[in-house]
Amino acid sequence: MYAFTYHGAETLEQAQELLASGDDPKILAGGHTLLPTMKQRLANPSDLIDIAGINALSGITLTGAALSIGAMETHAQVADSPVAQRAIPGLAALAGQIGDPHVRNRGTIGGSLANNDPAADYPAACLALGALIHTTQRQIKAQDFFTDLFETSLEEHEIITRIEFPTPEISAYAKSPNPASRYALVGVYVARTQNGVQVAVTGAGPVVFLATGFSQALERSFSRGALNGVTVSPEGLNADLHASAAYRAHLIGIMARQAVTTALSQKQGAPS
Ligand SMILES: Cc1cc2nc3c(=O)[nH]c(=O)nc-3n(C[C@H](O)[C@H](O)[C@H](O)COP(=O)(O)OP(=O)(O)OC[C@H]3O[C@@H](n4cnc5c(N)ncnc54)[C@H](O)[C@@H]3O)c2cc1C
Repeated sequence: MYAFTYHGAETLEQAQELLASGDDPKILAGGHTLLPTMKQRLANPSDLIDIAGINALSGITLTGAALSIGAMETHAQVADSPVAQRAIPGLAALAGQIGDPHVRNRGTIGGSLANNDPAADYPAACLALGALIHTTQRQIKAQDFFTDLFETSLEEHEIITRIEFPTPEISAYAKSPNPASRYALVGVYVARTQNGVQVAVTGAGPVVFLATGFSQALERSFSRGALNGVTVSPEGLNADLHASAAYRAHLIGIMARQAVTTALSQKQGAPS
């Protein structure tokens, strides 16, 4: 690891000042991606700005028809939150499937979205549920946020503050995990809202995407059977030692059916 200077920020303003003044500063959340990268000498930031002490980045609240999750909430906190479980059980269940207990207790939703790993779980939920990503500068729609492999529309030094998820009628996530890392070989989030159905896929392509053929079929009838004969082309999908593109395309159909079954079994959206 190269030498760096550590700063613990206590407010967003302080974090922004530190980011503006450093040579090549980086935001530090749980460190679950950033620190291994630095240990391998693949990243060499001059300064680490730790945002864990900023109260404004915490909290899970339900306001009207939107669930708001602070950027520093860990996956375990989202999974265990009664507010999240009641408002969007599919999202809480997704958080409980990320990595292992160690990963879930350090990794954060803000760090996961900023990192935009092509096999990460949250991007599928953000896209299917139509989340709004709030930052220190603006609000970004999920459909405009995930731009490419490990790329987002965040500007340099822009900090994700919270993520707002409109509560759906019903929704669920199903993934086929890599047995070693638990990252998604393929993960599918299905959401039925008042405005229709959205099906988002992670792990299969270079960046999370909507499976529109699946969404259209489920809009006609929200049932497993509605997906019979609906397929995704393997063209452009990831192929590696874990799975071929054709296998991933096949898995998308299997995971979509599983997600529909789970969604239909849920009592959803009973905010009080
Ligand atoms: C062994 C292992 C298994 C994993 N398995 C899974 C899995 O199954 N599914 C899954 O989805 N993920 C998985 N992950 C990823 C993990 O869940 C974390 O979400 C991810 O590593 C990000 O970690 P972090 O929150 O600690 O962010 P950090 O590592 O601290 O930061 C990551 C990047 O995001 C930037 N950043 C952090 N917070 C913000 C913010 N608020 N605003 C702007 N930029 C920010 C940082 O500058 C850095 O560039 C796994 C990770 C490991 C190590």
